[in-house]
Amino acid sequence: MLANCPMCQALYEEKEIRLLGERGVTRLFHCTCHACGHAMLAVILETQGAISSVGLVTDLEAQDAIRFKDLQPLQSEDCLKIHRLLKRHSVEFCRALSQETKPKV
Ligand SMILES: [Zn+2]
Repeated sequence: MLANCPMCQALYEEKEIRLLGERGVTRLFHCTCHACGHAMLAVILETQGAISSVGLVTDLEAQDAIRFKDLQPLQSEDCLKIHRLLKRHSVEFCRALSQETKPKV
């Protein structure tokens, strides 16, 4: 199931596949490809002898995936809140971003 990188088809090495968690019959894996550097999250489901999987290309590192996996999903109200905040404070937000990216002298 987790044999090949979906981006470049390279074979994963065993050390590149990490089991992040298990819940009932599902297991969550994180795989990082040594050849192209892309990462994938995969959910493997085993029921009555049948195995199915869902893979998702991600920019999450394994430790980020561990940190995020038990958080609540974003709700539409969260999106509205950030939209309102950005609208109200867009100038300050852009200033803060440009300060962040300015090279330090
Ligand atoms: Zn790859």
